[in-house]
Amino acid sequence: MGVYQRAPLAFERGRGVKLFTAEGDEYLDCMAGIAVTALGHGHPKLVEAVQTAAEKVWHTSNIFRIPDQEKLAGMLTDATFADVVFFTNSGAEAIECAIKTARKHHWANGQPERIDIIGFDGSFHGRTIGAIFAAGNPSYVEGFGPTPPGFVQAKFGDLEGLRELVGPTTAAILLEPVQGEGGARSWSEAELKAIRQLCDETGTLLIYDEIQCGLGRTGKLFAYEWCDGAAYPDIMAVAKALGGGFPVGACLATINAAKGMTPGSHGSTYGGNPMAMAVGLASFEELVKPELLEHVRDVAGFLSQQLTGLKDRYPDVVVDIRGKGLLIGVKLATPNREFMQHARDEHLLIAGGGDNCVRLLPPLVITVEEASEAIQKMERACETARAKAKAAAA
Ligand SMILES: *Cc1c(COP(=O)(O)O)cnc(C)c1O
Repeated sequence: MGVYQRAPLAFERGRGVKLFTAEGDEYLDCMAGIAVTALGHGHPKLVEAVQTAAEKVWHTSNIFRIPDQEKLAGMLTDATFADVVFFTNSGAEAIECAIKTARKHHWANGQPERIDIIGFDGSFHGRTIGAIFAAGNPSYVEGFGPTPPGFVQAKFGDLEGLRELVGPTTAAILLEPVQGEGGARSWSEAELKAIRQLCDETGTLLIYDEIQCGLGRTGKLFAYEWCDGAAYPDIMAVAKALGGGFPVGACLATINAAKGMTPGSHGSTYGGNPMAMAVGLASFEELVKPELLEHVRDVAGFLSQQLTGLKDRYPDVVVDIRGKGLLIGVKLATPNREFMQHARDEHLLIAGGGDNCVRLLPPLVITVEEASEAIQKMERACETARAKAKAAAA
């Protein structure tokens, strides 16, 4: 289906932060397949995990125990607020599981009327029917029918408005601690703490979508950790970096939040299968390493300083730098789609974003030298954008 406006570019091979076309042209990958290939391309441990798993057993179904699934679930619960995990093949499925878990929790509590999922403008939760209405982005819901009951939209950053929306039919508040697609807008620690408190006061479940901002992207294993334990969610969706390019997602929850998820209430044919879990395990073992998280904070500090320099030198092109860690949004004064093309002409790959942003989402293993190369390419793209804007004005 013609649902993508694809760039006329294909890659044959990848190593670390570099991608190569069949003709041998080299590109610096600062989008990582939208925050997926966090360990870079061709990571030896992931390659080995796939090869070894492929020789054993690919798939058995969740009718049987899957030892690597139990192991990865154990690692995820050890590292987080969560007690239980459900594995999926994508982010959107992890969100669906989160919504179902939240509603079923209230149902099991004898409050079946609590079905409302409160989402925020500028958020992105995936492309299933549930996920598009939970996010409420007008351009993603258009033509897909009326908003089903149980989805409520709140304004990003408006805590007073949120307080008024929470009522007797509220099941959960769903948010990305740092919005990805929406243009790398970040909730403050104070706001997240206030939302956690509101949830505690009203028996509302708090769902974090850390599909993009989680798994080391912000310099902590999960973005909520920036709140020093004062803003834990009850349920959390993760995916993207979890499989490093292999489709792996997960919905994490406390045992209380998941109290309604009893045998038969949910399932997946592929979710958590042996192949996916072998890669997920190998990937997660790397992502939890404190050295990697420290590295992310270091490179992110360097990039933030360098991008601020660009903003000072090109105020006619770059108007704001936002985000957290290596989830970086650069808000532009010139059209972001054109800017992505200018960057591509410099052999730099960056992602788009809402609010006329471009996003830098490099593999977490990017070195300072590679980051510095990215900045030089960004600078030349700024030159091109400036020249184009001047020519248009003349
Ligand atoms: C990518 C993304 C999703 C959807 O994940 P899919 O694997 O594409 O279904 C949901 N939420 C956020 C924050 C994302 O970045």
